Amino acid sequence: MGMKSSGQKKSSGEKRSKEDLDRIVARARQSLDERMKGYREQSLRIHPWVCARCGREFTAKNLHLLTVHHKDHNHENNPSDGSNWENLCLYCHDNEHRRFLDYEEGAGAGESEEPSKAATHKPFAKLAELLKPEKR
Ligand SMILES: [Zn+2]
Ligand SMILES: [Zn+2]
Repeated sequence: MGMKSSGQKKSSGEKRSKEDLDRIVARARQSLDERMKGYREQSLRIHPWVCARCGREFTAKNLHLLTVHHKDHNHENNPSDGSNWENLCLYCHDNEHRRFLDYEEGAGAGESEEPSKAATHKPFAKLAELLKPEKR
């Protein structure tokens, strides 16, 4: 009989607001990433690509193994002249934090990014092999 249009879908606008929320969250995360990346890039621009501790040199190829350490262990302290930054290889950075009991990452938020970091310290063992080939 008259059941012609019973299968028509209504497009509800409710889904869209959830997408907006997702987008906002994604954007917030991205800006945090950019901020974190920002000081690293700045430090790498200011300082030579050399570990300040062991003197290991880095190239664009293995630059991801070079990290930026905050000398006073305060992530919030990012003077643009780079005076609070130190380029450290992952090894020395790890050592630096072990020596310094007050882990800098514990001081502020953002720990949720890598919850398994403390549990997976073994990757550093493999790092030795990653780093070796660069040194002929
Ligand atoms: Zn080093
Ligand atoms: Zn550090």
